[in-house]
Amino acid sequence: RSKRRGRGQITVYSQEIAQEMKRATHLEQALRNAIIANEVDVHFQPIVRLRDDAVVGFEALARWCDADLGYVSPAVFVPLAEERGFIDTLSDTLLRKAAEAALSWPKELFLSFNLSSAQLMDPKTAFNTLAILNRTGFDPRRLELEITETAVMTDADTAQKIVAELRGAGVRVSLDDFGTGQSSLGRLRDFTFDKVKIDRAFVSRIANDKASEHIIKAIVAMCEGLDLEVVAEGIEDFSEALKLKALGCGMGQGYFYGKPTDAGTTMRFLSDRYVSVEGRAVNA
Ligand code: C2E
Ligand code: MG
Ligand code: MG
Ligand code: MG
Repeated sequence: RSKRRGRGQITVYSQEIAQEMKRATHLEQALRNAIIANEVDVHFQPIVRLRDDAVVGFEALARWCDADLGYVSPAVFVPLAEERGFIDTLSDTLLRKAAEAALSWPKELFLSFNLSSAQLMDPKTAFNTLAILNRTGFDPRRLELEITETAVMTDADTAQKIVAELRGAGVRVSLDDFGTGQSSLGRLRDFTFDKVKIDRAFVSRIANDKASEHIIKAIVAMCEGLDLEVVAEGIEDFSEALKLKALGCGMGQGYFYGKPTDAGTTMRFLSDRYVSVEGRAVNA
């Protein structure tokens, strides 16, 4: 294509590429600095049991607001940290912060944390993760790690070893964004997961799309047979919640139940919802 457009066009392209690389390198530097300055934060979004709306856990979500760049989405800076080879540093910081915050929650609530695909190709991940939990004093049995199909597909052997080691220590593993990756249902058999998170893409369409409803119904039935728990992601209104409940989906997460909020706001949310009964916190 560039040949036909002539030399001038090639110059424009390479200038654009150079611009893009400059932007990425600037972003990388800002992110590295933010990690050192402890400016990358973690927010928490509630996950509820649909039957009675009881909060059962929270997903930790990375948040970064740069003084010059403004809000940068984790969908941008997580892949950047992966590409530039410092996802382990970023992730360790986030997990430490998340686990520290979760120490103050009622004991029966779990913390769900996203592992990036690069981390599932790095044999050090299991050891690092368990070391952070140990240092923080957070019970591994209260941690869930969210991984995606793509991560599992790339280097299945390494990923499987990491997952097995973590599960051996009591950590639970969920398959995130289910239905969107290059799914192979066989993975669900080969891999030991505890939970499947149905991607928001299906949930957001159930109101007026029969196909999405059937897909969710099928996922729920399959998970029941495989003894996996199911979470629907991205529930935004009451009618979606009702439909998912009717489809037999066990858990839900989305703006309807709560947006991701910082550690302090999450604690206030919990004290509003929980009453303490003989020292034990229960859902109000
Ligand atoms: P994810 O793990 O699938 O997280 C769910 C995303 O959906 C979050 O976006 C969340 O804020 C958003 N969400 C939740 N409920 C609703 C809803 O009702 N409606 C809509 N429209 N969106 C909803 P967020 O926080 O921007 O994160 C995007 C992605 O970045 C995450 O997708 C995850 O893949 C990645 N990510 C975030 N934090 C981390 C992290 O600490 N480590 C790693 N490795 N990845 C992270
Ligand atoms: Mg997730
Ligand atoms: Mg997801
Ligand atoms: Mg996602």
